[in-house]
Amino acid sequence: MDELVSLCARRGFIFPSSEIYGGINGFWDYGPLGVELKNNLKAFWWQRVVRERDDVEGLDSTVIAHPRTWEASGHVEHFSDPMVDCRTCKRRFRADHVDVPCPEAPKQRSVAECDLTEARNFNLMLRTFIGASEDAASTAFLRAETCQSIFTDFKRVREAARQKIPFGIAQIGKAFRNEINPRNFTFRSREFEQAELEFFVHPSERERWFEYWLEQRVGFHRELGFGDDRLRVRPHEPDELAHYAKAAADVEFLFPFGWQEIEGVHDRGDWDLSRHTEYSGKDLAVTDEQTKERFVPMVVETSVGIDRTALALLCNAYQEEALEGGDTRTVLRLHPAVAPIKAAVLPLSKKLAEPVRRIAADLRRHWNVFYDDAGNIGRRYRRQDEAGTPLCVTYDFESEDDGQVTVRERDGMQQERIALDGLEAYLRERLEARP
Ligand code: ATP
Repeated sequence: MDELVSLCARRGFIFPSSEIYGGINGFWDYGPLGVELKNNLKAFWWQRVVRERDDVEGLDSTVIAHPRTWEASGHVEHFSDPMVDCRTCKRRFRADHVDVPCPEAPKQRSVAECDLTEARNFNLMLRTFIGASEDAASTAFLRAETCQSIFTDFKRVREAARQKIPFGIAQIGKAFRNEINPRNFTFRSREFEQAELEFFVHPSERERWFEYWLEQRVGFHRELGFGDDRLRVRPHEPDELAHYAKAAADVEFLFPFGWQEIEGVHDRGDWDLSRHTEYSGKDLAVTDEQTKERFVPMVVETSVGIDRTALALLCNAYQEEALEGGDTRTVLRLHPAVAPIKAAVLPLSKKLAEPVRRIAADLRRHWNVFYDDAGNIGRRYRRQDEAGTPLCVTYDFESEDDGQVTVRERDGMQQERIALDGLEAYLRERLEARP
């Protein structure tokens, strides 16, 4: 994990926010490679969940919603974690996370043996004020999950898109939680992104759709390259379920710090739409056109953390590989769909810069392509291996005569001579093939 964190900072994937001021706990910035990785992941999710289906609509709602939203959702009252303080080291911990070494005396004891106060509930919603006064009436919350606006916008979106049950509304966006102990790099942050789908179904079909979406979502993570040894589904025990939920399962990934949730799939019943009906006074029930039955749809939710999945992708991809001759290389074996740079184009010598810049400009109409003419070719390949670039295209003095380039593949390091005419098609086949 330490090596990955250091690679992420050095290569500009992810590093602390406000680093020159010493950072701010639980907040992370994504640099040039990180923002590409994250955008690719979001685009991939959007493609599979929204674009490829005619029963899911997209939404982009505000971070701040009417405060009644959060009363209706139960967050104002219940969205809290139990918190304890240590009287010796003065630090604050989640009462259900005390199985960690005490920062004061890490070798001797875990926090559980510290001089802890009684647990108190701590609300995780971040607050702000709207308008000029800072009183209770102007208090608003930064959303703790993206889905609540999907429920409050449900009627508008359904009517505008002329959708009938079953159908879903999806959104990707920032969420904020004042986590007591942000930790494990970006795994538990205070500002993060979620990609959520709320799928609205007839009450008689909730089980079927829950199973369907769970399978779809596991398929998505497999597509990203997570193997069975690092991916599992953990159904919730009955005592873990929210009181309104009929079923829930976590999709878990094996991080270097253990099995952890990256996505939740939940049968939320009619809790959300019923509560928003109650609090807004607006009827959110629907009528079945054929049977004329009036009902409140049930909701199956899939909620994945973009940052957690990006971290899982990096953990899964990271490898230090021994090469022949005692050499080693660090390589990120990222799926081409999420790799920040799809191909690097490299002139063997700076004298060949001009034609290679033209090739780069051509390819950039389709992909994020990196041009690099600095240093020896072996070192340039290594830099791309570390960035997770699937293919390197090298132009040498022979290319001038035979119109061919060498394409080097990241994982197996095989090299192939390809005609420049066919380069775009060759890259497309390797970068965009569906597994
Ligand atoms: P946890 O138990 O880890 O706090 P949760 O069960 O509260 O998570 P959900 O409310 O189901 O999480 O959120 C759905 C997804 O959002 C999670 O699977 C995770 O990927 C992501 N997520 C939640 N909290 C955080 C966080 N603090 N930092 C990064 N991602 C988060």
